[in-house]
Amino acid sequence: MDSDQYIIIHYAEIALKGNNRGFFEDFLRHNIEKALKREGIKFLLKKISGRFVVRLDEEEKDYEKISKILKNVIGIAHFSYAVRSPCEIEAIKDAALSLLSGKNFNTFRLSAVRSDKKFPLTSQQINEVVGEHIIENSDKKVSLKNFDVEVVIEITEGDAFLYVEKEGCIGGLPVGVSGKVISLISGGIDSPVSSFQTMKRGCNVVFVHFHSFPYTGIESIEKIKKLVKILNKFQFKSKIYLVPFADLQSEIFVNTAGNFEKFRVVLYRRFMLRIAEKISEMENGQAIITGDAIGQVASQTLENINTINEACNIPVLRPLITYDKEEIINKAKEIGTYEISILPHCDTCTRFMPKHPATKAKIEIVKKIEENLDVDKMVNDALNKMEIIEI
Ligand code: ATP
Ligand code: MG
Repeated sequence: MDSDQYIIIHYAEIALKGNNRGFFEDFLRHNIEKALKREGIKFLLKKISGRFVVRLDEEEKDYEKISKILKNVIGIAHFSYAVRSPCEIEAIKDAALSLLSGKNFNTFRLSAVRSDKKFPLTSQQINEVVGEHIIENSDKKVSLKNFDVEVVIEITEGDAFLYVEKEGCIGGLPVGVSGKVISLISGGIDSPVSSFQTMKRGCNVVFVHFHSFPYTGIESIEKIKKLVKILNKFQFKSKIYLVPFADLQSEIFVNTAGNFEKFRVVLYRRFMLRIAEKISEMENGQAIITGDAIGQVASQTLENINTINEACNIPVLRPLITYDKEEIINKAKEIGTYEISILPHCDTCTRFMPKHPATKAKIEIVKKIEENLDVDKMVNDALNKMEIIEI
């Protein structure tokens, strides 16, 4: 056994099927390297027999920090700190024994995995031979079911790696493999979660936020930046399009007097999609993401979702569509956006909010209202005034 420090990284099996394997692996490899490098970690990374092996520089001892970095890399199923041994049974026996020395336990099990089938012993034989060696040289016992420690022995081409603990990660597909999407982020609890869920399926997320500055405070925009900073830990680089919405809202306001005021929110949403679609064209995006869940608020009934969707020609995906609020809150806590999301902010859509928003906005009525609006001009004006921030 050598004194070098290794990390064995396993990725989600499901993505490995078929011809996309190499493509998937390249993305993940690149993302792991980027994540470690941006925190200044010195290492070498190799792909060996369907897993990644990271060899940490001798001076790298902050395992807590390294674990934290790897736990945010989407696409990793789990990883382990490992020792390396030459691929010979005698060396493996010694490596297993010294890996366990100093550890406090009574029972153990061995789990050999043979990726290199040229190795002369089967996995079962490795378990038996190494197990015997540990029993002979210690007072420990084997227990296959109720064990205190499990020693995993991975036989790869050239090296064997041994470890005792697995650290579970996010899983999913590496960010970038699935293309780019435009996520509407509002500062609430839901849209950061829907953005994360989309990243977890391998999408690069570009953020779009509509604000009513100066009618709503600058804090709302600061809040969005904070949320995107948190989400950025999963994708390395983020862009936020800040789109002024106040003039457009005023225009809608004056055209929805009396009975029509209840359609305002649906009209706002239709304009958001139109503008997001244009941004998607500029960004080469494939879809728009929102944080809607059926029935969560008045604007999110199926009827309204239909009427809102009609304004745009690219897919609008709603990752949280079937989630309960509690599920969304739990996810937001997990990814670290909840604490920011619950800070008070002035929502764009509460500006000129009708007392009783329509829950079943018919397309024909909404289109009728839009006939009195210069839709293209309103969209273009907003696009001309938007700002872009890079995180
Ligand atoms: P959230 O918690 O995401 O704010 P919400 O429950 O407040 O959601 P709505 O305000 O109805 O729900 O918004 C539904 C979705 O529309 C949001 O999840 C978001 O994707 C989009 N959205 C709403 N307001 C804005 C905004 N000002 N800028 C960008 N997107 C928005
Ligand atoms: Mg909202």
